[in-house]
Amino acid sequence: MDFDYDPENLFAKILRGEIPNKTVLETDHALAFHDIAPQAPIHVLVVPKGPYVSLDHFARDASAEEQVGFLSAVSQVCEILGVEAGFRAIANSREHGMQEVPHFHLHILAGRRIGPLVV
Ligand code: 5GP
Repeated sequence: MDFDYDPENLFAKILRGEIPNKTVLETDHALAFHDIAPQAPIHVLVVPKGPYVSLDHFARDASAEEQVGFLSAVSQVCEILGVEAGFRAIANSREHGMQEVPHFHLHILAGRRIGPLVV
């Protein structure tokens, strides 16, 4: 499978500092920031810094260091947000996954019961 990464996508611009964001955490490997249109009391996006389109692209092509760094950022974000009661993590992936921004990101939704998974 060919993954065609567009360096002009919105999250690439946020990572380059061209568009402001409300940062929760920045590490060598990831940036986490509040979603502009939150779907829950807590709605944070965790974005790896490397040029990966989707979860399967990241899982296939990112180095072990990038993958561990990303997951470590997710762990730190959960700690910062204080989501002891739990959360939902969503990775919309490409066309059928209804992904809008073609740079891999994990939605962290929390702060209330998120409800059943609706497809
Ligand atoms: P996707 O559908 O690609 O999984 O999710 C993209 C998310 O990016 C949406 O939840 C949308 O609200 C969020 N979003 C779109 N534009 C911006 C923006 O300029 N800033 C931030 N922080 N989030 C954005």
